[in-house]
Amino acid sequence: MTARGRLIVVSNRLPLVMKQQSGGAWHLERGSGGLVTALEPVLRETDGIWVGWPGVDPKRIPEVDDFLEGKEEELGYQVRGVGLSPREVDDFYLGFANQVVWPLFHDFLNQCNFDPAFWKAYQAVNQRFAEVVADEAEAGDFIWAHDYHLMSLGEDLRGKGVKNRLGFFLHIPFPPRDLFVKLPWRKEVMSALLSYDLIGFQTDRDRTNFVHCLQALRPDAHIEGSGRVVRAEVDGRTVRIGVFPISIDVREFAGPAASPEISERVARLWTEFPGRKLILGVDRLDYSKGIPHKLEGYRLALARYPELQEKVSLVQLVVPSREDIPEYYDMKREIERLVGQISGEFTRPGWVPIHYQYGRWDRPELIAHYRAAAVALVTPLKDGMNLVAKEFCAASLEGNGALILSEHAGATAQLQHDAILVNPFDVEGVAEAIFRACTMSDEERQARMQRMRAKIEREDIFWWVETFRKASHDEVDDEASPLDVYMPSRI
Ligand code: UDP
Repeated sequence: MTARGRLIVVSNRLPLVMKQQSGGAWHLERGSGGLVTALEPVLRETDGIWVGWPGVDPKRIPEVDDFLEGKEEELGYQVRGVGLSPREVDDFYLGFANQVVWPLFHDFLNQCNFDPAFWKAYQAVNQRFAEVVADEAEAGDFIWAHDYHLMSLGEDLRGKGVKNRLGFFLHIPFPPRDLFVKLPWRKEVMSALLSYDLIGFQTDRDRTNFVHCLQALRPDAHIEGSGRVVRAEVDGRTVRIGVFPISIDVREFAGPAASPEISERVARLWTEFPGRKLILGVDRLDYSKGIPHKLEGYRLALARYPELQEKVSLVQLVVPSREDIPEYYDMKREIERLVGQISGEFTRPGWVPIHYQYGRWDRPELIAHYRAAAVALVTPLKDGMNLVAKEFCAASLEGNGALILSEHAGATAQLQHDAILVNPFDVEGVAEAIFRACTMSDEERQARMQRMRAKIEREDIFWWVETFRKASHDEVDDEASPLDVYMPSRI
């Protein structure tokens, strides 16, 4: 134990995948990704616990917990499971999380399904998580809840008499006031969030939106301070509200990018696109990613700047996601229609303007594409952060990749001075940015990329974990890590 006490991380999914083999024995696959890599050392160091859904229903939790107990030594920390029934998966996860909070918080009001049964399930599941966490919590523990699935957890823990310090980080955007007040349970959600001692957002934009909602719904709240963490005095308590842009483990990308295996793949990719600039898009299938808008922008770039024809190719990977929701299936068809249109209009012997892939790449393939690309086209309509943008910079070893970045991505606050910013709704602006990125001088591209890489190295995922933990102790030094604020007047 350290002076700061144990860390208890709570997230909807556990950072592990549990699979049952044909003989009935459980098999554990450990998750990867920057967040897990950064939290695991703190969990080990503080003798901490990770609580989450292992993908099974409540009846199976005792056997899963037994199995996980046996894995403690291998993992170096404890893991506790919370079971969800198939009905709860439908109403809490696919329902409230993915059809209420996700679309509303990404500004897609018309995709919301405000079914009251979803809200009931959300409350019941948050209570279930709270029971498990309350059972484990000891004096001095810091409980850190992650993301929009667990907004009510803090209040439920307080209801069970838990007095520990409670932190919450929202990985997705927080919506503007006019949108948030459309939520039928706006008061309940706001009041639940105020049970935490520290609420973290990705950007100043999200924190400002939250503060506006707080002022509208709780005019008695008094906001004080400025900088990365401000304080709200409400109900006789202090709630800290901070900005903590999440990031990546830079070494996970920069290290392998330099390996002989990946260098070989990069060389292969360059020979596949002889004398052409590779423009790269990597997006999960989701309306927030704005893939159709991006394709329209690319099409316009080829039409308006014919000198780009035969000189560039777009490689667009779309990663399958939430295919059981009908809107996602319709969006996939729309993307495929646009890809067909671009191919039909521009392809000629020896040149294919767009290479579309629907699937997943393994890590080496992804890193090879990042390193080989001359331009990354990252144009979400709204995004909490967008890690693809940061991963591209980390893997861009030649240092001459240009990043076209949506001003509505969280990553823009940190990269605004060196990325080529676009409003993804402005198709002409996207076309112009593509032309600019493809014709920018090598010196300018290198200087911009060098500064972006330095920023990402400084504010990596380890910095993020440490800054959030420090904020929970009111120890953040504003001079050491000044807050980045983005204003749309830049473009
Ligand atoms: N990614 C992946 N497999 C792929 C392509 C991408 O695992 O085939 C990862 C990528 O490395 C990144 C994540 O998916 O870490 C996407 O994160 P981002 O923040 O850009 O968007 P999200 O999908 O979380 O909304």
